[in-house]
Amino acid sequence: MVAIGRNYKLHAEELQNPVPAEPFWFLKPPSAYVLPGSPIVIPDGVDSIHHEVELGVIISRQCKNVSERQAYDNVAGYCVALDMTARCWQDKAKKKGLPWTAAKGFDTSLPVGSFIPASLVRDPMALTLWCRVNGEQRQRGTTADMLFSIPQLIARVSQIHTLEEGDLLLTGTPAGVGPVVSGDSIEIGIEELKTSATFRVQ
Ligand code: MG
Repeated sequence: MVAIGRNYKLHAEELQNPVPAEPFWFLKPPSAYVLPGSPIVIPDGVDSIHHEVELGVIISRQCKNVSERQAYDNVAGYCVALDMTARCWQDKAKKKGLPWTAAKGFDTSLPVGSFIPASLVRDPMALTLWCRVNGEQRQRGTTADMLFSIPQLIARVSQIHTLEEGDLLLTGTPAGVGPVVSGDSIEIGIEELKTSATFRVQ
């Protein structure tokens, strides 16, 4: 899983981060996946864990050095996802210039909703992402506000990593991230695709 950081201007600003001039990303391991029905487990020692709702792009085939024009030819479909973040660990890592692997890649840090085939998605750059915690809206944003588009992201990332069938690209979170605690229920969705998924925080 390749996860793009700071791809929405308002989110970069809400965490007092500079708006990036080019895409950057980090990786999450397969053990980060969680499907609906299984809990998000807060790691021991974490006192601040945040929700980040994101559009997930699922790669259809092995590809390398993909052009922006041909990017969508390598997309199998989409999903709604959460980039769960141990913000306390990330803040510490940022200060020391250390990697975010623990903060972003702990077990259960990547809850995902159902797979939606690309053929059912008219315009992935015009989707409304939302996130509710215990029924209260926390995030609502449009993929139209991405700083770097899906084709730009696929082109850039595939210059560095060969992408494989089934790889998941997280495209960044809109503004409104915030903490959750044990016992909370996080519901995420994509309005136009009528898809949603609910996860319990343990
Ligand atoms: Mg994120």
